[in-house]
Amino acid sequence: MTGGPITVAGVTIEPGERRDLAPLASESYTGDRATLPMAVINGAEDGPRVFVTAAIHGDELNGIEVCRRLLDLLDPAALRGSIVVVPIVNVLGVQFGSRYLPDRRDLNRSFPGSHGGSMAARIARLVTEEVITGSDAGIDLHTAANHRTNVPQVRIADDERALELAITFGAPFVMHAPLRAGSLRAVALDLGVPVLTFEGGQPLRFDEDVIDVALRGILRVLARLDMVDGAPEPAAAEPMVLEASRWLRAERGGVLELHVGAGDLVQAGQPLWTTTSPLGAERASVAAETEGYIIGATTLPLVQPGQALLHVALPGETIPSEDDPTDEVDEDDPDVPDTDD
Ligand SMILES: [Zn+2]
Repeated sequence: MTGGPITVAGVTIEPGERRDLAPLASESYTGDRATLPMAVINGAEDGPRVFVTAAIHGDELNGIEVCRRLLDLLDPAALRGSIVVVPIVNVLGVQFGSRYLPDRRDLNRSFPGSHGGSMAARIARLVTEEVITGSDAGIDLHTAANHRTNVPQVRIADDERALELAITFGAPFVMHAPLRAGSLRAVALDLGVPVLTFEGGQPLRFDEDVIDVALRGILRVLARLDMVDGAPEPAAAEPMVLEASRWLRAERGGVLELHVGAGDLVQAGQPLWTTTSPLGAERASVAAETEGYIIGATTLPLVQPGQALLHVALPGETIPSEDDPTDEVDEDDPDVPDTDD
């Protein structure tokens, strides 16, 4: 069925058309416009509306490249439904490689935002109104925070639609992660929009493997929603669904030698790390108390007590991610979300 026009940030996009928009996000000290660049692709045919956002934390860059490659692959004439892609949400923080905005607020704790609020609140409001509201699903791309790396993983709320799309995405891990107040994911769910929060790699760099996992995942979700034809193979055929995780922290300061890496499955009793003094005296040797997957790790060579070193999750349930997610969509199955509204 032929789609109709959609309006984003005051601009009408006709079916089969892509428009690159630059709504006002803020202003510089010199009074120049700071815009929030976004691409809106309105497919020739009717279908769901999906958004992809990246760099809501201004030092988390992998998603910017994912968006660039995604936009290169999407053809408005072949698309069913519409996609809004915002490669850099924190347009001010990214200028100086910062997670935060210049007002030191975390944009991902500032949703839904307000028109008359802080700098962060105003940008959040723009994203809430023009990008999230009216969508059927969203994918928000992140990396680990400063001095850490994450194994590619999708974090979701306790939501059946999100779980199904997260399995389809095909990252090695799916984690049920509590909703943080003021996050894009929490506010989107309040608006009825399931969001996959993708985490992978480190800040301030492009990680080719992580970018590949994310790009495949997004295309697989779009295929699942019947917006595009065909889907790439998943990065992980059987994503592991993790229910709980915790950070293991250093008790002694010194030089850190990690004996395991991000992605490893460790067994109880397996050595995790050794800390020595700079003169070579051993300070601590820590072994795993239980079996678990290392889903994140520090990248720093020196540690102090209390510093988070390894993010460990208990092994959960593996759920196959079908080769072709379009095969699975069954309109009569009440468990499949109705994505055509
Ligand atoms: Zn982030």
